Amino acid sequence: ASKKNGRNCATAFAAHMAEERSVDRALEKDLESAFDAGQLRMVYQPIHSIDEDCREVEALVRWKHPELGEVPPSTFIPAAERSGLMVRLGEWIIRRALQDFAQWPDIHMSLNLSPLQLQHDGFSTFLLDCCRENGIAPQRLFLEVTESLSIERNTRALLTLNLLRNLGFRIALDDFGTGYSSLSMVKSFKFDRMKLDRSLVMDLGQDPASLAVLEAAVTMARHVGAEVVAEGISEDHLVGPTRSAGCTHLQGYFYSHPIEAGHVWNYIAKVQGKSARAA
Ligand code: C2E
Ligand code: MG
Ligand code: MG
Ligand code: MG
Repeated sequence: ASKKNGRNCATAFAAHMAEERSVDRALEKDLESAFDAGQLRMVYQPIHSIDEDCREVEALVRWKHPELGEVPPSTFIPAAERSGLMVRLGEWIIRRALQDFAQWPDIHMSLNLSPLQLQHDGFSTFLLDCCRENGIAPQRLFLEVTESLSIERNTRALLTLNLLRNLGFRIALDDFGTGYSSLSMVKSFKFDRMKLDRSLVMDLGQDPASLAVLEAAVTMARHVGAEVVAEGISEDHLVGPTRSAGCTHLQGYFYSHPIEAGHVWNYIAKVQGKSARAA
C-alpha cells in the first residue's frame, strides 16, 4: 500500500509541477500582450531623508491582469526574465518613468534594473537617449541593482555599470543583506548607495541582534563611501534606530505606500511645506 501511495504522491507531484509550469507559461504569454493592452503602469514610492524632507521617489512597475488582478512584480519580473521579455519590459519602464520624472523638477528618482538589461547591448545608449529626450541629467537617477544574476562574475554587467557611473548615474546596491546582495558585492564595485533590505530592519526593537547587524552594515557602507537607505520602515518605532545607526534616507509604508504618478508632485510639495515649517 505504501508503494502505491508513494506512486500516487509522485504522480500528484509531477502533475502539480506540470501545472506550475503551464501556469508560468500562461503568465509569460499574458505579459506579452500586457504592453499594448495598457495593463502596465508605474507607481512611485517616496524616499524620505532623515531631516523629514522628501526629494526622491523609487519607480515600481505594476501589472493589472484582466482575470488575476494585480500580479506582484516579484512574480512577473522573473517571468519576464525567463521568457526573454525583460529587455522590452525594461525599456517600457524606463520610457514611462522618465516621461513622468520630467514633470518633477529637482528631485531624484531610483530605477530598478534587471541584470539582463545591463547585459544587453546598447543599454547605456538607450538610457542616455531617454534622459536627453526628457531633459534629465544622469546625476538625478539612482540605478538599483541586485546580485540575482551574480554581477560579480559577470564582467559585461560590471563594465556597463562602470560606464554608467562615469556618465554620472548613481549606482545603488538594492536588497543589501539578503542572499541577492552579498558582502562580496561591496568589493566588486564602488556603489554610491546601499539599500538595506526590509529583513534587516523589521525586527529592530524586538531583537538586539538585529541592531548589531544593521550597525555593522552601515559601518561597512560608510567605509566604502556609500550612503545608506533603510527600506521597509513600516512603523514609527523603526525610524529612531535606523536614523541613529547612520542611515541617511528612509523608505516604507510608515511614510507612504507607492503612489500613482499624478499624486507625486502634491506629495512632495506637502512634505516640503511641512519640513520648511518645522525648520
Ligand atoms: P525593491 O526594489 O526592493 O522594492 C521595494 C519593495 O518593497 C516594493 O515592492 C515596495 O512596494 C515594498 N515596500 C516598500 N515599503 C514597504 C514596507 O514598509 N513594508 C513592506 N512589506 N513592503 C514595502 P514591489 O513594488 O512589490 O516590488 C518588489 C520587487 O520587484 C522590487 O523590490 C524589485 O526588486 C522588483 N521590481 C519592482 N519594480 C521593478 C521595475 O520597474 N524593474 C525591475 N527590474 N524590478 C522591479
Ligand atoms: Mg529597489
Ligand atoms: Mg529594495
Ligand atoms: Mg527589496
